[in-house]
Amino acid sequence: MQAVYDTTPEFAQTQDQLDTLFPFRERFHFPQHNGEDVRYFCGNSLGLQPKSVEYLMNKELRDWARHGVEGHFRAGYPWFSYHHIFSERLAAVVGAQKEEVVAMNALTVNLHLLMISFYRPANGRYKILMEAGAFPSDQYAVETQVRMHGYSPDDAIIEIYPREGAHLIEEEDILKAIQETGDTLALVMIGGVNYYTGQFFDLEAITKATHNVGAYCGFDLAHAVGNVPLQLHNWNVDFACWCTYKYLNSGPGGVGGAFVHERHGNNPDMPRLAGWWGNEESTRFKMRKGFIPQAGAASWQMSNAPVFNMVAHNASLDIFEKVGMAALRAKSIHLTGYMEYLLRQITHLKFEIITPTSPEKRGCQLSMLFGDDGRAIFEVLTENGVVADWREPNVIRIAPVPLYNTYEDCYKLYEILMTIPAQQ
Ligand SMILES: *Cc1c(COP(=O)(O)O)cnc(C)c1O
Repeated sequence: MQAVYDTTPEFAQTQDQLDTLFPFRERFHFPQHNGEDVRYFCGNSLGLQPKSVEYLMNKELRDWARHGVEGHFRAGYPWFSYHHIFSERLAAVVGAQKEEVVAMNALTVNLHLLMISFYRPANGRYKILMEAGAFPSDQYAVETQVRMHGYSPDDAIIEIYPREGAHLIEEEDILKAIQETGDTLALVMIGGVNYYTGQFFDLEAITKATHNVGAYCGFDLAHAVGNVPLQLHNWNVDFACWCTYKYLNSGPGGVGGAFVHERHGNNPDMPRLAGWWGNEESTRFKMRKGFIPQAGAASWQMSNAPVFNMVAHNASLDIFEKVGMAALRAKSIHLTGYMEYLLRQITHLKFEIITPTSPEKRGCQLSMLFGDDGRAIFEVLTENGVVADWREPNVIRIAPVPLYNTYEDCYKLYEILMTIPAQQ
């Protein structure tokens, strides 16, 4: 379906009136600029605070004050089993069975923990394949995992680059490299949506190709979770992890998430590093010797749940549950399509949208690559109450987030860009 847009302000107003998700905007706090809500395009970096967080946080504080240690069993959401409250709603967001997901730790920590299980070089299989230009934390994680096993990153890490002169990676090149690496390949670990370009990879095809050569396949879904449709279970992905402070609005440093496919999660022989919180719940407080993993991804937990750090996650997942990923995605495609359309009408500024044009190949983020004056344009946006995101060397990322951005936000951004004088 070809969406029809135009550049009138009335178009934006009408779309906002027609938008059934419009009221959800009211559930979030917006930073202020000159007494007005900012136009917030930075949900890909840090999502806004759901208003219900304060109430839920106070409730947790009261439970601690009232119950002390007994809160493990008597709190409104007992801390002993706190992570359970997320399972169903998280599973719906990533397309998993509820035992396959767990909220724990933080993203890079989870990436390491899962690589400990899924990157175990043996019998000549030791290589890790990833996308070039991965988020630095992922690059460091992979580099140091490889070193921990005594390999040199230059030899053991295969990075897939865009072709000469291109910004995006050809999926065909990933699949071909997987096949060529064949039985020396131990693991494919790719960012599901690239943080810089916004490219959304075909995770199912990559998983299949990886399994065909006998390797494991895992994804960092930091920019995918809560943004694009995922079917981790059906796609047979081995593992995945994500942070929750981006599209999932769960606050700075918010608890991370992990997915382990049930065929591994329910296999007690699957190697993992353990702590008491991953132990079978019925015997967790018996303080016995001998780790007995509980079923599913939850057995990768180590420490008792950081309850205060999970409150915002609870608040945010409530909203996701009410909206549903399907409705969110439908609006997202239309809204980002509109933003892209508006940007393409701007001819007097020199920039290129490097994010894929096809909605299937992207989420809501659009990355605009500028010449040398990108930074100055970014400053103009900031001065005018637009919160965008600057990435070195010359990219402005904007994310019209379907949960709280409006068509009028997009229009406003367009209007500001239109007032900037033409470049030399
Ligand atoms: C945001 C992001 C991170 C950040 O990692 P933390 O451990 O949460 O600090 C890592 N990897 C990717 C791909 C990201 O987008």
